[in-house]
Amino acid sequence: MTSATESLKDLHQLHLQIEELQTELERGPMQIQARKKIVANKEEALDNFLNQLTQMKKSSDSKALELKTLEAKLEDLQGKLNAASSNREFDSIKGQIKADEMAKSVLEDEVLEILDRIDEESGKQSQLEQELESARQEASRFSSQFETRAQELKQELEGLKQKLQAAEKMLPSEPLVLYRRLVAQKGAKALAKVRGGACSNCFVSITAQQKILINSDAFEFCTNCGSLLYNDEQGE
Ligand SMILES: [Zn+2]
Repeated sequence: MTSATESLKDLHQLHLQIEELQTELERGPMQIQARKKIVANKEEALDNFLNQLTQMKKSSDSKALELKTLEAKLEDLQGKLNAASSNREFDSIKGQIKADEMAKSVLEDEVLEILDRIDEESGKQSQLEQELESARQEASRFSSQFETRAQELKQELEGLKQKLQAAEKMLPSEPLVLYRRLVAQKGAKALAKVRGGACSNCFVSITAQQKILINSDAFEFCTNCGSLLYNDEQGE
Protein backbone atom coordinates (compact mmCIF):
# COMPACT_ATOMS: atom_id res chain seq x y z
CA MET A 1 0.00 0.00 0.00
CA THR A 2 1.15 3.50 -0.77
CA SER A 3 1.54 6.09 1.97
CA ALA A 4 -1.36 8.21 0.69
CA THR A 5 -3.58 5.15 0.75
CA GLU A 6 -2.56 4.38 4.32
CA SER A 7 -3.12 7.95 5.45
CA LEU A 8 -6.49 8.26 3.76
CA LYS A 9 -7.55 4.94 5.19
CA ASP A 10 -6.56 6.15 8.67
CA LEU A 11 -8.37 9.41 8.08
CA HIS A 12 -11.50 7.54 7.03
CA GLN A 13 -11.29 5.25 10.06
CA LEU A 14 -11.03 8.27 12.33
CA HIS A 15 -14.08 9.86 10.74
CA LEU A 16 -16.04 6.63 11.08
CA GLN A 17 -15.08 6.24 14.74
CA ILE A 18 -15.96 9.87 15.46
CA GLU A 19 -19.34 9.45 13.78
CA GLU A 20 -20.02 6.28 15.72
CA LEU A 21 -19.25 7.93 19.06
CA GLN A 22 -21.25 11.03 18.16
CA THR A 23 -24.23 8.88 17.22
CA GLU A 24 -24.03 7.07 20.54
CA LEU A 25 -23.76 10.38 22.37
CA GLU A 26 -26.79 11.79 20.54
CA ARG A 27 -28.86 8.64 20.95
CA GLY A 28 -28.50 8.64 24.76
CA PRO A 29 -30.91 11.50 25.53
CA MET A 30 -33.49 9.93 23.19
CA GLN A 31 -33.14 6.59 24.94
CA ILE A 32 -33.54 8.35 28.28
CA GLN A 33 -36.67 10.09 27.02
CA ALA A 34 -38.11 6.79 25.80
CA ARG A 35 -37.61 5.28 29.26
CA LYS A 36 -39.19 8.30 30.94
CA LYS A 37 -42.16 7.89 28.64
CA ILE A 38 -42.55 4.27 29.74
CA VAL A 39 -42.53 5.38 33.39
CA ALA A 40 -45.17 8.04 32.64
CA ASN A 41 -47.36 5.46 30.89
CA LYS A 42 -47.10 3.06 33.82
CA GLU A 43 -47.92 5.87 36.27
CA GLU A 44 -50.98 6.69 34.22
CA ALA A 45 -52.04 3.06 34.09
CA LEU A 46 -51.74 2.77 37.87
CA ASP A 47 -53.64 6.03 38.42
CA ASN A 48 -56.44 4.90 36.13
CA PHE A 49 -56.58 1.58 37.86
CA LEU A 50 -56.74 3.13 41.34
CA ASN A 51 -59.49 5.52 40.21
CA GLN A 52 -61.45 2.60 38.83
CA LEU A 53 -60.99 0.69 42.06
CA THR A 54 -62.16 3.67 44.10
CA GLN A 55 -65.27 3.93 41.91
CA MET A 56 -65.98 0.26 42.41
CA LYS A 57 -65.60 0.58 46.18
CA LYS A 58 -67.92 3.59 46.22
CA SER A 59 -70.48 1.69 44.24
CA SER A 60 -70.15 -1.29 46.56
CA ASP A 61 -70.59 0.97 49.62
CA SER A 62 -73.69 2.61 48.23
CA LYS A 63 -75.22 -0.74 47.34
CA ALA A 64 -74.47 -2.05 50.84
CA LEU A 65 -76.19 1.01 52.28
CA GLU A 66 -79.17 0.45 49.97
CA LEU A 67 -79.33 -3.13 51.20
CA LYS A 68 -79.33 -2.03 54.84
CA THR A 69 -82.16 0.45 54.18
CA LEU A 70 -84.14 -2.27 52.45
CA GLU A 71 -83.60 -4.67 55.34
CA ALA A 72 -84.83 -2.07 57.80
CA LYS A 73 -87.85 -1.45 55.60
CA LEU A 74 -88.59 -5.19 55.47
CA GLU A 75 -88.36 -5.43 59.24
CA ASP A 76 -90.76 -2.54 59.52
CA LEU A 77 -93.15 -4.19 57.05
CA GLN A 78 -92.97 -7.43 59.01
CA GLY A 79 -94.09 -5.50 62.11
CA LYS A 80 -96.93 -3.92 60.14
CA LEU A 81 -97.91 -7.33 58.79
CA ASN A 82 -98.23 -8.72 62.29
CA ALA A 83 -100.36 -5.77 63.31
CA ALA A 84 -102.57 -5.83 60.20
CA SER A 85 -106.17 -5.27 61.11
CA SER A 86 -107.79 -6.55 57.93
CA ASN A 87 -107.22 -9.18 55.30
CA ARG A 88 -106.92 -6.50 52.65
CA GLU A 89 -104.22 -4.68 54.59
CA PHE A 90 -102.49 -8.01 55.30
CA ASP A 91 -102.47 -8.96 51.58
CA SER A 92 -101.21 -5.54 50.57
CA ILE A 93 -98.33 -5.62 53.07
CA LYS A 94 -97.56 -9.23 52.09
CA GLY A 95 -97.31 -8.08 48.45
CA GLN A 96 -94.89 -5.31 49.37
CA ILE A 97 -92.75 -7.70 51.39
CA LYS A 98 -92.60 -10.08 48.44
CA ALA A 99 -91.51 -7.35 46.06
CA ASP A 100 -88.94 -5.96 48.51
CA GLU A 101 -87.53 -9.39 49.18
CA MET A 102 -87.07 -9.87 45.47
CA ALA A 103 -85.29 -6.50 45.27
CA LYS A 104 -83.17 -7.48 48.27
CA SER A 105 -82.09 -10.70 46.62
CA VAL A 106 -81.10 -8.87 43.43
CA LEU A 107 -79.18 -6.31 45.49
CA GLU A 108 -77.39 -9.01 47.46
CA ASP A 109 -76.24 -10.62 44.22
CA GLU A 110 -75.00 -7.28 42.96
CA VAL A 111 -73.06 -6.59 46.15
CA LEU A 112 -71.54 -10.05 45.98
CA GLU A 113 -70.54 -9.59 42.37
CA ILE A 114 -68.95 -6.21 42.94
CA LEU A 115 -67.03 -7.44 46.02
CA ASP A 116 -65.79 -10.34 43.95
CA ARG A 117 -64.60 -7.98 41.25
CA ILE A 118 -62.87 -5.73 43.79
CA ASP A 119 -61.12 -8.78 45.15
CA GLU A 120 -60.01 -9.83 41.70
CA GLU A 121 -58.89 -6.32 40.69
CA SER A 122 -56.97 -5.74 43.92
CA GLY A 123 -54.55 -8.46 42.83
CA LYS A 124 -53.67 -6.39 39.79
CA GLN A 125 -52.62 -3.42 41.89
CA SER A 126 -49.39 -4.96 43.13
CA GLN A 127 -48.57 -6.10 39.62
CA LEU A 128 -49.01 -2.56 38.26
CA GLU A 129 -46.99 -1.15 41.15
CA GLN A 130 -44.20 -3.62 40.47
CA GLU A 131 -44.18 -2.78 36.77
CA LEU A 132 -43.97 0.92 37.59
CA GLU A 133 -41.16 0.33 40.06
CA SER A 134 -39.07 -1.66 37.59
CA ALA A 135 -39.69 0.93 34.86
CA ARG A 136 -38.46 3.62 37.26
CA GLN A 137 -35.41 1.59 38.19
CA GLU A 138 -34.60 0.91 34.56
CA ALA A 139 -34.95 4.62 33.69
CA SER A 140 -32.67 5.69 36.52
CA ARG A 141 -30.18 2.87 35.86
CA PHE A 142 -29.99 3.84 32.21
CA SER A 143 -29.64 7.55 32.97
CA SER A 144 -26.77 7.15 35.37
CA GLN A 145 -25.10 4.58 33.15
CA PHE A 146 -25.36 6.94 30.21
CA GLU A 147 -24.03 9.83 32.27
CA THR A 148 -20.86 7.83 32.92
CA ARG A 149 -20.69 6.64 29.32
CA ALA A 150 -21.16 10.19 28.03
CA GLN A 151 -18.09 11.33 29.94
CA GLU A 152 -16.07 8.50 28.40
CA LEU A 153 -17.46 9.24 24.95
CA LYS A 154 -16.60 12.93 25.21
CA GLN A 155 -13.05 12.12 26.22
CA GLU A 156 -12.67 9.55 23.47
CA LEU A 157 -14.07 12.01 20.97
CA GLU A 158 -11.65 14.66 22.09
CA GLY A 159 -8.75 12.24 21.56
CA LEU A 160 -10.04 11.17 18.16
CA LYS A 161 -10.49 14.76 17.03
CA GLN A 162 -6.91 15.52 17.95
CA LYS A 163 -5.76 12.46 16.03
CA LEU A 164 -7.89 13.60 13.11
CA GLN A 165 -6.32 17.05 13.11
CA ALA A 166 -2.89 15.47 13.07
CA ALA A 167 -3.89 13.07 10.28
CA GLU A 168 -5.35 15.87 8.19
CA LYS A 169 -1.93 17.56 8.09
CA MET A 170 -0.83 15.10 5.44
CA LEU A 171 -3.37 16.49 2.96
CA PRO A 172 -1.90 19.04 0.55
CA SER A 173 -3.69 22.38 0.53
CA GLU A 174 -5.55 21.80 -2.72
CA PRO A 175 -7.40 18.58 -1.85
CA LEU A 176 -7.71 19.88 1.71
CA VAL A 177 -10.11 22.65 0.69
CA LEU A 178 -12.36 20.18 -1.12
CA TYR A 179 -12.00 17.65 1.66
CA ARG A 180 -13.12 20.14 4.32
CA ARG A 181 -16.17 21.07 2.28
CA LEU A 182 -17.01 17.39 1.83
CA VAL A 183 -16.57 16.59 5.52
CA ALA A 184 -18.86 19.46 6.44
CA GLN A 185 -21.50 18.07 4.05
CA LYS A 186 -21.16 14.34 4.40
CA GLY A 187 -19.11 13.54 7.49
CA ALA A 188 -17.33 10.20 7.19
CA LYS A 189 -18.81 9.73 3.73
CA ALA A 190 -16.39 12.40 2.52
CA LEU A 191 -14.01 9.50 1.98
CA ALA A 192 -14.58 6.27 0.11
CA LYS A 193 -12.67 3.06 -0.44
CA VAL A 194 -12.29 1.83 -3.96
CA ARG A 195 -13.75 -1.66 -3.97
CA GLY A 196 -13.97 -3.85 -7.05
CA GLY A 197 -12.96 -0.87 -9.14
CA ALA A 198 -15.85 1.24 -7.84
CA CYS A 199 -16.43 3.97 -5.28
CA SER A 200 -17.83 2.30 -2.17
CA ASN A 201 -20.09 5.26 -1.40
CA CYS A 202 -21.97 5.41 -4.70
CA PHE A 203 -20.80 2.18 -6.44
CA VAL A 204 -19.95 3.99 -9.66
CA SER A 205 -16.81 2.59 -11.34
CA ILE A 206 -13.70 4.67 -11.37
CA THR A 207 -11.82 5.25 -14.61
CA ALA A 208 -8.60 3.48 -15.53
CA GLN A 209 -6.90 6.87 -15.37
CA GLN A 210 -8.13 7.45 -11.80
CA LYS A 211 -6.98 3.99 -10.82
CA ILE A 212 -3.46 4.76 -11.97
CA LEU A 213 -3.49 8.12 -10.21
CA ILE A 214 -4.77 6.68 -6.95
CA ASN A 215 -2.13 3.97 -7.08
CA SER A 216 0.52 6.63 -7.48
CA ASP A 217 -0.51 8.62 -4.40
CA ALA A 218 -2.62 11.26 -6.14
CA PHE A 219 -5.74 12.61 -4.42
CA GLU A 220 -8.69 11.69 -6.59
CA PHE A 221 -12.34 12.46 -6.01
CA CYS A 222 -15.20 10.26 -7.27
CA THR A 223 -16.59 11.81 -10.44
CA ASN A 224 -20.10 10.81 -9.40
CA CYS A 225 -20.46 11.54 -5.66
CA GLY A 226 -17.32 13.56 -5.05
CA SER A 227 -15.87 11.35 -2.31
CA LEU A 228 -12.15 11.40 -1.76
CA LEU A 229 -11.03 7.98 -2.96
CA TYR A 230 -8.43 5.62 -1.60
CA ASN A 231 -7.41 2.16 -2.59
CA ASP A 232 -8.32 -0.52 -0.09
CA GLU A 233 -7.49 -3.56 -2.17
CA GLN A 234 -4.28 -5.49 -2.37
CA GLY A 235 -2.80 -5.47 -5.84
CA GLU A 236 -5.28 -3.05 -7.36
ZN1 LIG B 1 -18.75 7.89 -5.48
